Amino acid sequence: MSAATVLVVGGGITGCVSAIALAQRGVEVTLVEKASDWHGVGHGITVQGNALKMFREIGVLDPILAKGHGFDRVRMREYTGEDIATITVARTGGPDLPATLGALRSDIQGVLVDKIKELGIELRLGTELVSFANIDSHVEAELSDGTVENYDVVIAADGIKSRARTLLGITEDKQPSGMGIWRAVLPRTPDMDISGLYYHGPQYKVGFTPISADLCYGYVLCDPVRPDNGLTDAQEMRRLMEGYGGHIEFLRSQITEDTYLNFQEIEWLFVEGPWHQGRVIAIGDAVHACPPLIAQGAAQCSEDAILLADYLTRDGDMERLLTEFEARRKPRVRLVVDASLQLVDWELHPAPDADPGGVMQRSLSSLAEAA
Ligand SMILES: Cc1cc2nc3c(=O)[nH]c(=O)nc-3n(C[C@H](O)[C@H](O)[C@H](O)COP(=O)(O)OP(=O)(O)OC[C@H]3O[C@@H](n4cnc5c(N)ncnc54)[C@H](O)[C@@H]3O)c2cc1C
Repeated sequence: MSAATVLVVGGGITGCVSAIALAQRGVEVTLVEKASDWHGVGHGITVQGNALKMFREIGVLDPILAKGHGFDRVRMREYTGEDIATITVARTGGPDLPATLGALRSDIQGVLVDKIKELGIELRLGTELVSFANIDSHVEAELSDGTVENYDVVIAADGIKSRARTLLGITEDKQPSGMGIWRAVLPRTPDMDISGLYYHGPQYKVGFTPISADLCYGYVLCDPVRPDNGLTDAQEMRRLMEGYGGHIEFLRSQITEDTYLNFQEIEWLFVEGPWHQGRVIAIGDAVHACPPLIAQGAAQCSEDAILLADYLTRDGDMERLLTEFEARRKPRVRLVVDASLQLVDWELHPAPDADPGGVMQRSLSSLAEAA
């Protein structure tokens, strides 16, 4: 029997795409999100063609394309600004979609929220999953609003800090990558129309992605612990960009005390063991989170969400369907996590044979071929 009622826990990209894809297949969906404001923060995000392909499948591609900036190439440079190479990125979503789109995370979230409202999906903000119990052919879910409800299936899409992961008995946990990241949305010049990556400088990789005709987001990969140096956020990000040439010098000059800045540690996760127990399954960053060095997080989350919606609306034994779903997803996600960790390793331990451009091209080409 296919699932007729599904509880989705978490309203990030994974949860939103899951809820939309299921509702579009006739499933009665309840979405709970612990935040009371879920419009997301205004950081930049780089999404690739295979994410755009998933957005097209749920009918949100056009507004997302309209809010972002699409492009097909990445320019790699020495930190001083000298060119290393410009690579053409594989079109992982197929030939009719840009290889890459830069956008504001809050804009993508806004489009997904509009679709959720249009479909009339039941949404409860400020609500968490507290516990669950698999009982016969349903799940009893206890929520923080005091309700206890029955669902055919529960999808945990509660992110890398997932509590549901623990409730599922999964002991594999997120790991530090050894790096942190500063990000800032900043003005860009017309020639900053593709991603720029700067290597071999005083910090780990520094770069930017254009998100509109006149904006980009810039970032610095650095130590995971912010030094206690008394600097403001703006002063600290400018300090980290010191000594870089090319467009990074320009971006550094644009950072003021009013710039919206964010620093966070980068962690990663890949759950090798089962992602489900009975009729409760965790997907997205709750079971696999890759350091954002090839920018595949949103794509892998969206692919999970849509494939799972397909499986949940098939007839058949639910245990078999969920096991098959996991078997389909794990090799593809593993490829992305491994490639991202390789890139991290080369940042932390520079090697003469390091070939970040080659790894990016090969892994994205594999994803495109296996789509
Ligand atoms: C610094 C950084 C930069 C990144 N850059 C990129 C990029 O450029 N491109 C890219 O593709 N990917 C990027 N990623 C990865 C990408 O952001 C993630 O893969 C993706 O957003 C994960 O989506 P998610 O919905 O699974 O989890 P999340 O976005 O974490 O969403 C989980 C949601 O669940 C809610 N929640 C948590 N617990 C509960 C609960 N108990 N009950 C109810 N709700 C709950 C949370 O409030 C949250 O809204 C980046 C990640 C990081 C850390």
